[in-house]
Formats: sequence, structure tokens, C-alpha cells
Amino acid sequence: MTTTADRPADARRVAEELLTWVPTGLLVGGEWRDSSDGSRFEVLDPASEEVIATVANATPTDASAAADAAASAMPAWAATAPRARAEVLRRGFELMVGRAEELARLIVLENGKALRDARAEVAYAAEFFRWYAEEAVRNVGELMTAPSGANRILVTRQPIGVAALITPWNFPAAMLTRKIGPALAAGCAVVCKPASETPLTALAIARLLEEAGVPPGVVNVLASRRSGQIAATLLGDERVRKLSFTGSTEVGRELLALAARRVVSCSMELGGNAPFIVFDDADLDAAIAGAMVAKMRNGGQACTAANRFYVHEGVAGEFSRRLAEAMGALKVGPGLDESVDVGPLVNGPSRDKVDELVSGALEGGARTLVGGSRPAGRGFFYPPTVLEGVAPGAALLGTEIFGPVAPVVTFASEAEAIELANATGYGLVSYLYTSDLARGLRVAEALESGMVGLNRGLVSDPAAPFGGVKESGIGREGGHEGMLEYLEPKYIACSW
Ligand code: NAP
Repeated sequence: MTTTADRPADARRVAEELLTWVPTGLLVGGEWRDSSDGSRFEVLDPASEEVIATVANATPTDASAAADAAASAMPAWAATAPRARAEVLRRGFELMVGRAEELARLIVLENGKALRDARAEVAYAAEFFRWYAEEAVRNVGELMTAPSGANRILVTRQPIGVAALITPWNFPAAMLTRKIGPALAAGCAVVCKPASETPLTALAIARLLEEAGVPPGVVNVLASRRSGQIAATLLGDERVRKLSFTGSTEVGRELLALAARRVVSCSMELGGNAPFIVFDDADLDAAIAGAMVAKMRNGGQACTAANRFYVHEGVAGEFSRRLAEAMGALKVGPGLDESVDVGPLVNGPSRDKVDELVSGALEGGARTLVGGSRPAGRGFFYPPTVLEGVAPGAALLGTEIFGPVAPVVTFASEAEAIELANATGYGLVSYLYTSDLARGLRVAEALESGMVGLNRGLVSDPAAPFGGVKESGIGREGGHEGMLEYLEPKYIACSW
């Protein structure tokens, strides 16, 4: 473990440089301003636990003002030629790429992740602007003859209305661009509420979108510690017709109930509990490499993170040993250090939760192959950990761990692996490794998840429909499907 002795000074210097251009106010109707009650909240560096900035703390009054601004700006934006909207998004992509290193450092500062993860996130996030610049000009409709032959059925797709976008802290750039890109491509205006752990990245992206030519009021940003009040105000406003939320299933459920009152269209990207299945015919080198990505991207703080490793009993010993070796070789420390592989977790409660889940598994009979105990000192660090012999009922198999912990469980047959994998209320992503393609496709079809990584530890791609089934969500982001979430089909029955 790296020491954090010289860390606060570094982080402060980087923060000072970045805050020369990253705003810390609210963006409402094209103006950067303070919150209506003048309050602000602190943003912490998870590696040092030091305050790196304070940010305006939006109130319900600010939320109403943002809804006003979005509603006023939307008609002109919806009427803007698709090619012109596309050019603005394309410029947003270019500006993000131009500022990629600064955005990556900003993400490290407020989220904690290692610089290489932050760089990968910025590249992924910017791609949503490029992809939706390309999709903005492909809002296609349909024309068909009614089966009776009596008339024509004409279907056109119109922007759904003002959209409220609520995003989590784990991918502060990508979760936002994955919503803003398709919303703007469709012709919607948006009010964004980023996670209060990581508001600076959202504010920086909004600043770049202004520079890209997004008209005032089309993108509004409200950082706030009053997330419940902001959401209730926006969902209570009759002009807000769409909610796109990424976050926990627990909060998603509350927001669905709120949205039901006004029958607001909802896209929900919620929690996951991904199984990672390794059959005895798998290429173990590939499976270990995939496991490291699926488990350790973002230090395990990803909705797509492999949460439960189900490994055939014939190869489980070797797989666990090699996974422990690879996990144990990772360097843990402050994310700004170029040589670091794994940064701290985002905050104290997240680290405590991981620690409790591991302690519970150990009490239930699991054995630690590497890691397994929380280090002393400042920063919310937790070491990469591999556990074997985990009891089937252990809490960490049924809970999103959201940390660098890999529990390994064995299975004896394909049917048992499928049954274990599907024994969860979640259904975001599953991973499976086998060298038998027929088995791979058969098992992929049987797995109850919106996405499957077949001999791959990474599924996220702006061109693909990302999303979950069961309690992992409703709707899809990315791909052609992502823009449909912000469009309403209008059917016109025609006779001529
Ligand atoms: P979270 O606690 O659900 O928060 C997500 C967002 O909702 C934040 O902006 C948060 O604001 C806000 N929020 C919290 N309570 C709220 C309430 N009562 N009403 C309205 N808004 C509220 O989730 P998180 O801890 O930030 O993120 C981790 C979760 O996100 C994990 O479960 C992960 O699996 C999920 N996730 C899913 C996907 C996906 O695509 N399926 C992607 C990434 C993450 P504050 O920060 O101010 O509390």
C-alpha cells in the first residue's frame, strides 16, 4: 500500500489548476449562478479525505427555475435542423477529447479512481457525443398500408419533452453524456442532477457544451445535496415529461413511485449483481484477463462489476490461485499517481460496507487468498481481495459489493451454473467463459440479464444497447435504442 503522506498537496495543486475553468455554480438558462439560498456543499478527495472544492447547493426554487429555462429553450432546439444539433454534439465530443487529461484528473480528484480508469472513462464518455451526433440525423419514421387496405399508417417520432437526468458518482462523465447525448440528438432540453459526491465533472462537461454551442437553457445543471427535493420538484412539474435515472435500485424504486403520480416516462439504469461463470473448457488465461477487467474496472465500483464468480469445480483451484496472484499484484494508492492500479473507494460508508461484507463471509467459513482487511490511515482504501469457500447464503453474493472483492463459488454442471447465476433479483449483465461456442450461446440465452459478456469481461459500448432486466432497470442507453427513449412515436392515420 502506498503512503498518502505527500498526497493532499498534490491534490490541492491539481484542484486549483482545474478550478480556473471548471465552474462551481448552478447552470440555469445559460447563466452560472449561486443557489437561491446561497448555500454550498463540500466535495472531498477520497484519497486524502480533504475538501477540494465547494459547489452551489441547488434548492427546489432553483429546480423550478431550471425547468422554466428548459421549457423555454426546448421548442427552438427541437426545431433546429438535426444536422445542426449533430454538429453541436460533435463539437462537444471534440472539446472533451481536447480536455481529456484535465477531465480525467478532475474525475480522479472527486471520485478517487485510478488515472488510467479515469482516462478510459473520458474516452468512453466523449464517444456518446460522437455516436449521438451521428444518430441525430437518423430519426426515422415508418409508413405502411393498414392491413385492411383502407388507409395508410404514418409514424413519426417527436422529442418527448423536457428531461430530468439523475446520475451516479461511479462514472461521473459517462453516465451523464450517455443521457445528454441522446436527449439533445432527439431535440429535448434537459435538467441534470449529478451525484453530490462528484458534481465537478458534470459542471465541467456543461461548460464544454456551452462552448460547443448548446443554446442557453437546453442543458441546465443543478448540483445539490437535496436530491430528494430536487427530484420531487422536477417530477411534480408538468413540463417535465421524462426521467432518466442511473443509480441504485433502491432509489430507482422511489423515483418510479414519484414519476407514477404524473405518469412520467422513465428510463432506469439500476443496480447489478453480475455472475462470472467459468466452465472447465474455458481458456483460463482469457478468463483471468476478463475477470480482472470485469472485477477491477473502477476498483470494482461499477454496476457491471463481476460480483459472484462461479467456477467449475475442475478448474476452481487453479482459477482462484491465479486470480489471487493477479489481484495481489495490483498497486493500491492515490489515483493521481500514474503507477497506481486501484484508487480508494468513493467514501467512508462504501468502504465500511465492503469491509462488513467480507467479514460476514469470513465468519461464514470463507477463506482469504489475498487482501481481506481494511488498512489503517487516511483515504477510503480497500485492498483487492479474493475469497474462496464462500457459503451459498453469504450476504456478499446477494448484495452489490461495489468494491475490489471477488468471491469464488464452485459448480458441477451447466444447469447448476445457470441456476446459481439467475438466483438474484438483478439482471444487468452476466459473463461466461467457455471454448464451446454452442454452449456459450445456449447459456447466454438462458441467463436472465440484459447483457452478456461471452469470453469478454467488458460489454460497455456507446454503439450497443446497455441496460438490464428484472430489478436492474427499464429501457436502454446507447445504440440506436438510446435515442428512442427521448422520442415519442406519433401515429397519423392517413387517407389519400
Ligand atoms: P444512488 O445513491 O441511487 O444515487 C444516484 C443518484 O440519485 C445521485 O445523483 C443521488 O444524489 C440521487 N439520489 C439519491 N437519493 C435520491 C432520492 N431519494 N431522490 C432522488 N435522487 C436521489 O446511487 P449511487 O450510489 O450514486 O451509484 C451507485 C449505484 O448506481 C449502484 O447501485 C450501481 O449499480 C448503479 N449504477 C447503475 C448503472 C447502470 O447503468 N445500470 C450505471 C452506474 C451505476 P446524491 O448523490 O445527492 O445522493
